[in-house]
Amino acid sequence: LPELPEVETLRGDLAHVYVGRRLLRVVVTGRRTVRRHDPALLGQLEGLVLTSVGRLGKYLLLEWDDGQVLVAHLRMSGQMLSAQPGSAPLPHTHAVFVFSEVGELRFVDPRTFGELFVAERAGDNRVPGRAVKEIAHLGPDALELEERYLASALAGRRAPLKSLLVDQRVLAGIGNIYADEICFDARTRPDRPGGSLSRAQVRRLKTSVGAVLSAAIAGKGSSLRDQQYRDLYGQAGLYQAQHKVYGRSGEPCLRCGRAIERVMFGARSAYMCGACQH
Ligand SMILES: [Zn+2]
Repeated sequence: LPELPEVETLRGDLAHVYVGRRLLRVVVTGRRTVRRHDPALLGQLEGLVLTSVGRLGKYLLLEWDDGQVLVAHLRMSGQMLSAQPGSAPLPHTHAVFVFSEVGELRFVDPRTFGELFVAERAGDNRVPGRAVKEIAHLGPDALELEERYLASALAGRRAPLKSLLVDQRVLAGIGNIYADEICFDARTRPDRPGGSLSRAQVRRLKTSVGAVLSAAIAGKGSSLRDQQYRDLYGQAGLYQAQHKVYGRSGEPCLRCGRAIERVMFGARSAYMCGACQH
Protein backbone atom coordinates (compact mmCIF):
# COMPACT_ATOMS: atom_id res chain seq x y z
CA LEU A 1 0.00 0.00 0.00
CA PRO A 2 1.07 3.57 -0.49
CA GLU A 3 3.75 4.68 1.98
CA LEU A 4 5.40 8.03 2.61
CA PRO A 5 7.17 8.38 -0.79
CA GLU A 6 3.97 7.70 -2.75
CA VAL A 7 1.88 10.03 -0.58
CA GLU A 8 4.57 12.73 -0.75
CA THR A 9 4.64 12.47 -4.55
CA LEU A 10 0.88 12.92 -4.61
CA ARG A 11 1.10 15.80 -2.13
CA GLY A 12 3.47 17.70 -4.39
CA ASP A 13 1.29 17.11 -7.46
CA LEU A 14 -1.88 18.17 -5.61
CA ALA A 15 -0.24 21.35 -4.32
CA HIS A 16 1.06 22.18 -7.80
CA VAL A 17 -2.33 21.88 -9.50
CA TYR A 18 -4.96 22.86 -6.92
CA VAL A 19 -3.48 25.35 -4.40
CA GLY A 20 -4.98 28.79 -4.99
CA ARG A 21 -7.99 27.30 -6.81
CA ARG A 22 -11.56 27.60 -5.61
CA LEU A 23 -13.66 24.51 -4.97
CA LEU A 24 -16.92 24.92 -6.84
CA ARG A 25 -18.69 21.67 -6.05
CA VAL A 26 -18.25 18.35 -4.19
CA VAL A 27 -20.14 15.19 -5.00
CA VAL A 28 -19.79 12.27 -2.59
CA THR A 29 -21.23 8.93 -3.66
CA GLY A 30 -19.15 6.54 -1.54
CA ARG A 31 -20.78 6.22 1.87
CA ARG A 32 -17.87 4.10 3.10
CA THR A 33 -15.24 6.59 1.91
CA VAL A 34 -16.70 9.34 4.12
CA ARG A 35 -17.51 7.28 7.21
CA ARG A 36 -16.42 9.35 10.21
CA HIS A 37 -19.16 11.92 9.79
CA ASP A 38 -22.14 12.88 7.63
CA PRO A 39 -20.83 12.96 4.01
CA ALA A 40 -22.85 16.18 3.52
CA LEU A 41 -20.22 17.94 5.70
CA LEU A 42 -17.90 17.96 2.68
CA GLY A 43 -20.39 20.41 1.14
CA GLN A 44 -19.11 23.00 3.64
CA LEU A 45 -15.93 23.20 1.57
CA GLU A 46 -17.75 24.48 -1.52
CA GLY A 47 -16.73 28.05 -2.31
CA LEU A 48 -13.46 27.83 -0.35
CA VAL A 49 -9.95 28.24 -1.76
CA LEU A 50 -7.33 25.52 -1.16
CA THR A 51 -4.40 27.19 0.62
CA SER A 52 -1.94 24.32 1.14
CA VAL A 53 -1.49 20.58 0.93
CA GLY A 54 0.39 19.08 3.87
CA ARG A 55 1.22 15.53 4.88
CA LEU A 56 1.82 13.68 8.11
CA GLY A 57 2.96 10.10 7.55
CA LYS A 58 0.54 8.57 5.07
CA TYR A 59 -2.17 11.21 5.66
CA LEU A 60 -2.77 14.11 3.26
CA LEU A 61 -4.01 17.39 4.72
CA LEU A 62 -5.78 19.74 2.34
CA GLU A 63 -6.16 23.10 4.09
CA TRP A 64 -8.79 25.66 3.11
CA ASP A 65 -8.97 29.42 3.54
CA ASP A 66 -11.48 29.22 6.42
CA GLY A 67 -9.28 26.91 8.55
CA GLN A 68 -10.98 23.61 7.74
CA VAL A 69 -8.79 20.64 6.78
CA LEU A 70 -9.81 17.83 4.47
CA VAL A 71 -7.90 14.73 5.55
CA ALA A 72 -7.32 11.96 3.00
CA HIS A 73 -5.89 8.50 3.68
CA LEU A 74 -5.41 6.16 0.70
CA ARG A 75 -4.88 2.93 2.67
CA MET A 76 -4.87 -0.11 0.31
CA SER A 77 -6.01 1.14 -3.06
CA GLY A 78 -7.07 4.79 -2.86
CA GLN A 79 -6.10 7.09 -5.71
CA MET A 80 -6.54 10.80 -6.23
CA LEU A 81 -6.70 11.53 -9.94
CA SER A 82 -7.08 14.72 -11.90
CA ALA A 83 -9.61 14.77 -14.72
CA GLN A 84 -10.85 17.28 -17.26
CA PRO A 85 -14.39 18.49 -16.59
CA GLY A 86 -16.97 16.29 -18.23
CA SER A 87 -14.52 13.46 -19.02
CA ALA A 88 -15.84 9.91 -18.73
CA PRO A 89 -16.52 8.74 -15.18
CA LEU A 90 -14.12 6.13 -13.78
CA PRO A 91 -15.33 3.03 -11.96
CA HIS A 92 -14.92 3.10 -8.15
CA THR A 93 -15.07 6.91 -7.97
CA HIS A 94 -16.41 7.80 -4.51
CA ALA A 95 -15.95 11.56 -4.42
CA VAL A 96 -15.48 14.27 -7.05
CA PHE A 97 -14.15 17.78 -6.31
CA VAL A 98 -14.77 20.33 -9.06
CA PHE A 99 -12.30 23.22 -9.00
CA SER A 100 -12.25 26.53 -10.82
CA GLU A 101 -10.09 26.51 -13.97
CA VAL A 102 -8.19 23.25 -13.35
CA GLY A 103 -10.96 20.69 -13.60
CA GLU A 104 -11.84 17.80 -11.31
CA LEU A 105 -10.09 15.87 -8.59
CA ARG A 106 -11.47 12.36 -8.17
CA PHE A 107 -11.09 10.02 -5.20
CA VAL A 108 -11.06 6.52 -6.69
CA ASP A 109 -10.79 3.43 -4.50
CA PRO A 110 -11.70 -0.11 -5.65
CA ARG A 111 -11.31 -1.69 -2.19
CA THR A 112 -12.88 1.23 -0.26
CA PHE A 113 -10.51 1.10 2.74
CA GLY A 114 -9.39 4.66 2.00
CA GLU A 115 -11.15 7.57 3.60
CA LEU A 116 -11.86 11.28 3.56
CA PHE A 117 -12.96 13.43 6.47
CA VAL A 118 -13.20 17.09 7.37
CA ALA A 119 -11.46 18.33 10.52
CA GLU A 120 -11.29 21.68 12.18
CA ARG A 121 -7.78 23.08 12.51
CA ALA A 122 -7.41 23.93 16.19
CA GLY A 123 -4.80 26.48 17.27
CA ASP A 124 -1.93 27.63 15.09
CA ASN A 125 0.36 24.61 15.26
CA ARG A 126 2.63 24.87 12.21
CA VAL A 127 3.41 21.17 11.88
CA PRO A 128 0.98 19.66 9.34
CA GLY A 129 -1.59 17.47 11.04
CA ARG A 130 -0.52 18.19 14.59
CA ALA A 131 -3.66 20.24 15.16
CA VAL A 132 -5.94 17.48 13.82
CA LYS A 133 -7.08 15.37 16.78
CA GLU A 134 -8.04 12.34 14.63
CA ILE A 135 -4.37 11.77 13.78
CA ALA A 136 -2.81 12.98 17.02
CA HIS A 137 -1.70 9.40 17.81
CA LEU A 138 0.88 9.40 15.01
CA GLY A 139 4.59 9.52 15.79
CA PRO A 140 6.85 12.05 14.06
CA ASP A 141 6.90 12.04 10.28
CA ALA A 142 9.69 9.75 9.08
CA LEU A 143 11.23 12.58 7.01
CA GLU A 144 11.54 14.68 10.19
CA LEU A 145 13.17 11.90 12.21
CA GLU A 146 15.81 12.93 14.73
CA GLU A 147 18.49 10.56 15.96
CA ARG A 148 17.78 11.26 19.62
CA TYR A 149 14.10 10.44 19.16
CA LEU A 150 14.89 7.21 17.28
CA ALA A 151 17.30 6.11 20.02
CA SER A 152 14.69 6.67 22.73
CA ALA A 153 11.91 5.02 20.68
CA LEU A 154 14.01 1.85 20.26
CA ALA A 155 15.60 1.74 23.72
CA GLY A 156 14.56 -1.31 25.73
CA ARG A 157 12.19 -2.59 23.04
CA ARG A 158 12.11 -6.34 22.45
CA ALA A 159 9.84 -6.07 19.42
CA PRO A 160 11.54 -6.74 16.07
CA LEU A 161 13.03 -3.63 14.50
CA LYS A 162 10.76 -3.84 11.46
CA SER A 163 7.64 -4.02 13.63
CA LEU A 164 8.72 -0.77 15.31
CA LEU A 165 9.58 0.95 12.03
CA VAL A 166 6.12 0.25 10.58
CA ASP A 167 4.29 1.17 13.82
CA GLN A 168 2.71 4.53 12.92
CA ARG A 169 2.63 5.55 16.60
CA VAL A 170 6.44 5.26 16.67
CA LEU A 171 7.16 6.77 13.25
CA ALA A 172 4.63 7.91 10.67
CA GLY A 173 4.97 7.00 7.00
CA ILE A 174 6.96 3.76 6.74
CA GLY A 175 5.34 0.47 5.66
CA ASN A 176 6.37 -2.95 4.45
CA ILE A 177 8.45 -2.02 1.41
CA TYR A 178 10.53 0.83 2.77
CA ALA A 179 11.13 -0.83 6.16
CA ASP A 180 12.92 -3.65 4.31
CA GLU A 181 14.85 -1.26 2.07
CA ILE A 182 15.87 0.88 5.06
CA CYS A 183 17.11 -2.13 7.07
CA PHE A 184 19.15 -3.31 4.06
CA ASP A 185 20.64 0.14 3.57
CA ALA A 186 21.54 0.24 7.28
CA ARG A 187 22.99 -3.34 7.13
CA THR A 188 20.71 -4.24 10.04
CA ARG A 189 18.49 -7.32 10.37
CA PRO A 190 14.80 -6.39 10.44
CA ASP A 191 14.02 -9.20 12.89
CA ARG A 192 16.46 -8.26 15.64
CA PRO A 193 15.03 -6.64 18.78
CA GLY A 194 14.70 -2.88 18.34
CA GLY A 195 16.47 -2.29 21.64
CA SER A 196 19.56 -4.30 20.61
CA LEU A 197 21.00 -1.68 18.24
CA SER A 198 24.19 0.07 19.26
CA ARG A 199 24.43 3.84 19.19
CA ALA A 200 26.34 3.68 15.91
CA GLN A 201 23.69 1.39 14.40
CA VAL A 202 20.92 3.77 15.45
CA ARG A 203 22.79 6.61 13.77
CA ARG A 204 23.21 4.59 10.58
CA LEU A 205 19.55 3.58 10.66
CA LYS A 206 18.49 7.21 10.97
CA THR A 207 20.64 8.10 7.96
CA SER A 208 19.14 5.21 5.98
CA VAL A 209 15.56 6.30 6.75
CA GLY A 210 16.27 9.68 5.16
CA ALA A 211 18.34 8.31 2.27
CA VAL A 212 15.88 5.59 1.22
CA LEU A 213 12.77 7.75 1.53
CA SER A 214 14.39 10.66 -0.36
CA ALA A 215 15.53 8.37 -3.18
CA ALA A 216 12.04 6.86 -3.39
CA ILE A 217 10.42 10.32 -3.55
CA ALA A 218 12.85 11.24 -6.34
CA GLY A 219 11.67 8.05 -8.12
CA LYS A 220 8.03 9.11 -7.64
CA GLY A 221 7.34 6.13 -5.35
CA SER A 222 6.78 2.45 -6.02
CA SER A 223 3.94 0.73 -7.88
CA LEU A 224 3.74 -3.04 -7.54
CA ARG A 225 1.72 -5.47 -9.60
CA ASP A 226 -0.71 -6.19 -6.77
CA GLN A 227 -0.97 -2.58 -5.70
CA GLN A 228 -2.86 0.22 -7.41
CA TYR A 229 -0.73 3.21 -6.48
CA ARG A 230 -0.87 5.91 -9.17
CA ASP A 231 0.11 9.57 -9.06
CA LEU A 232 -2.29 12.46 -9.72
CA TYR A 233 -1.95 11.92 -13.48
CA GLY A 234 -2.57 8.17 -13.34
CA GLN A 235 1.11 7.28 -13.80
CA ALA A 236 2.83 4.46 -11.91
CA GLY A 237 5.89 5.18 -9.76
CA LEU A 238 9.40 4.26 -10.96
CA TYR A 239 11.20 3.36 -7.75
CA GLN A 240 10.20 -0.34 -7.75
CA ALA A 241 13.02 -0.89 -10.29
CA GLN A 242 15.47 0.26 -7.62
CA HIS A 243 14.30 -1.99 -4.78
CA LYS A 244 17.35 -3.80 -3.42
CA VAL A 245 15.61 -6.45 -1.31
CA TYR A 246 11.82 -6.06 -1.33
CA GLY A 247 10.24 -8.73 -3.55
CA ARG A 248 13.68 -10.05 -4.61
CA SER A 249 13.61 -13.42 -2.86
CA GLY A 250 16.21 -15.76 -4.41
CA GLU A 251 17.83 -13.02 -6.48
CA PRO A 252 21.45 -12.03 -5.74
CA CYS A 253 22.21 -9.35 -3.16
CA LEU A 254 23.45 -6.27 -5.02
CA ARG A 255 26.19 -5.87 -2.42
CA CYS A 256 27.55 -9.37 -1.84
CA GLY A 257 25.83 -11.69 -4.34
CA ARG A 258 24.23 -14.02 -1.81
CA ALA A 259 20.56 -14.87 -2.44
CA ILE A 260 18.05 -12.50 -0.84
CA GLU A 261 15.82 -14.38 1.57
CA ARG A 262 12.40 -13.84 3.04
CA VAL A 263 12.48 -14.25 6.81
CA MET A 264 9.39 -14.76 8.96
CA PHE A 265 9.00 -13.47 12.50
CA GLY A 266 5.69 -13.49 14.34
CA ALA A 267 2.97 -12.45 11.92
CA ARG A 268 5.45 -10.50 9.83
CA SER A 269 8.00 -11.20 7.11
CA ALA A 270 10.84 -9.26 5.58
CA TYR A 271 13.21 -9.52 2.63
CA MET A 272 16.86 -9.30 3.59
CA CYS A 273 20.42 -10.44 2.92
CA GLY A 274 21.63 -12.89 5.56
CA ALA A 275 25.27 -12.08 4.78
CA CYS A 276 25.38 -8.31 4.95
CA GLN A 277 22.65 -7.51 7.46
CA HIS A 278 23.46 -8.15 11.13
ZN1 LIG B 1 24.39 -9.08 0.85
